[in-house]
Amino acid sequence: MTFAPRFKRILLKLSGEVLMGEGGGLSIDPAVTARVAEEIADVKAQGYELCIVVGGGNIFRGISGAARGMERATGDYMGMLATVMNALAVQNALEQIGVETRVQSAIPMASVCEPFIRRRAERHLEKGRVVIFAAGVGSPFFTTDSGAALRAAEMKCDALFKGTSVDGVYDADPKKVPTATRYDTVSYSRVLSDDLKVMDASAIALCRDNNIPIVVFNIREHGNFAAVLSGEGVSTVVQNEQE
Ligand code: UDP
Repeated sequence: MTFAPRFKRILLKLSGEVLMGEGGGLSIDPAVTARVAEEIADVKAQGYELCIVVGGGNIFRGISGAARGMERATGDYMGMLATVMNALAVQNALEQIGVETRVQSAIPMASVCEPFIRRRAERHLEKGRVVIFAAGVGSPFFTTDSGAALRAAEMKCDALFKGTSVDGVYDADPKKVPTATRYDTVSYSRVLSDDLKVMDASAIALCRDNNIPIVVFNIREHGNFAAVLSGEGVSTVVQNEQE
């Protein structure tokens, strides 16, 4: 499936874990982050407009804090702050290889980055900058997957690319079920009804309601992001049934 003529503006969701060192090393591994930045720069060089939403799971998740007795909302705010750290790491790695970027946070942090202003983000994209959105939707009890779906909708992105460390969506956990098979395409409703692990349900529903395809792919594999966009890489596309 070639996406090139269909997609001009894309939103890339980066889970925090893709910035981590192999085998659970550093939370933000500069070498790994630099490799991810190279993949992004390759795609940017092809003329795509790029928005990025970064997760924070490599550093902190509110739900893990809550499991250890912390108030959930406090933990979630800590998780959102973690996404700002990741956003700065991705910004730094991209700018070191000459890609112009801006970070916008849903939680205003004037001396660190810009606040999220949709029209301003639009202008950055027009000027060829990559806009990195931090702090998810800015409220506890959400995830950066929902943040990614929301930003994809309001920035009018043609697709949401979810860069992870697996190569797509499987009908069962491939680590536990040897016969698990990867979908090339799968509908939003199947993802929701079978509880397939793509993104959380509210993010899937938001993409479905706004007809934004979700492309799940492995961003840690060299050249794969660009390859998926040109129709050669390995991925799963979540979209409406009739397409
Ligand atoms: N978070 C939140 N609201 C948001 C986005 C994130 O409360 O809109 C918190 C939440 O605690 C979450 C953490 O930030 O667990 C890190 O984000 P996420 O788990 O989505 O990161 P990822 O799994 O993509 O690395």
